[in-house]
Amino acid sequence: MSENAGAGCLYIVATPIGNLGDLSSRARDILAKVDVIAAEDTRHTSRLLSHFGIKRPLLACHDFNERGRSEQIVRRLQGGESVALVSDAGTPLISDPGYHLVSAVREAGLKAVPVPGACAMVAALSVSGLPSDRFFFEGFLPAKGSGRRKRILELADFPHTWIVYESPHRIMDMLADMASELGGERHLVLARELTKTFETVLSGSVAELQEMLTHDANQQRGEFVVLIHGAVKEEVISDDVPEEALKVLAVLVEELPMKQASQIASRLTGVKSKLLYKAGLNMKGEI
Ligand code: SAM
Repeated sequence: MSENAGAGCLYIVATPIGNLGDLSSRARDILAKVDVIAAEDTRHTSRLLSHFGIKRPLLACHDFNERGRSEQIVRRLQGGESVALVSDAGTPLISDPGYHLVSAVREAGLKAVPVPGACAMVAALSVSGLPSDRFFFEGFLPAKGSGRRKRILELADFPHTWIVYESPHRIMDMLADMASELGGERHLVLARELTKTFETVLSGSVAELQEMLTHDANQQRGEFVVLIHGAVKEEVISDDVPEEALKVLAVLVEELPMKQASQIASRLTGVKSKLLYKAGLNMKGEI
């Protein structure tokens, strides 16, 4: 018989992000039957439980006590108890506590069982209209301006959709940083108050969204998921280069290496040297 025969399991239970109808019936059953519910904020979770008429003992498990709590919970599981982990909203561990607990449980050879449900970033992606075959979830960007701008710049060339969580009091500053690091033209989607009364999904360029939110302060309120269209490769075809610039380039490529020719042609014509470089390769039949 294995060491953990008779041990209980840890259920990772997703709770609603607004609409209480999103708590699954399986989640309700599990919350009603476990020996104890480990909650990020016990007062918040007791309101949810009382709405569903569930009465179970609660144990606080948050960012500041999670490591210590993990040892206690592992011992309780080994003693045969079952435990559910919930956060304030959505799926635990997704920008929420739970990682240390789940890894401790798995390291002890115990079972962690997912009880899936709401997750703000998945809900937002599903209605964003942005490419969803590949995406990157960043969670919260750094709260301070300089750190935030640095991180946005690091992600600027990422070619797929990327997703961040943002709080209402930082949304305008974050948009300003997106404008400075990505340019006002980058396409964004703001998914606000999902599943709640004032749910809104706005899309447009960074500059358009800045304008919309500035003119309607209500759109700055509530909880946000921000989805950023991945960087689009510049269409580099010689047809995009004006005829005059191509003529200049044609002369220069006869005399100079491609890089130098495109840089000089760029200075003479104002066309981006990257475009001219590709156009030059095209001329020479190298692409
Ligand atoms: N674990 C949660 C999940 O599965 O989505 C996320 C928890 S994180 C601490 C909270 C952030 O999620 C909020 O600041 C906001 O960015 C996003 N969020 C949560 N609920 C939301 C909602 N109803 N609409 C839009 N964004 C939401």
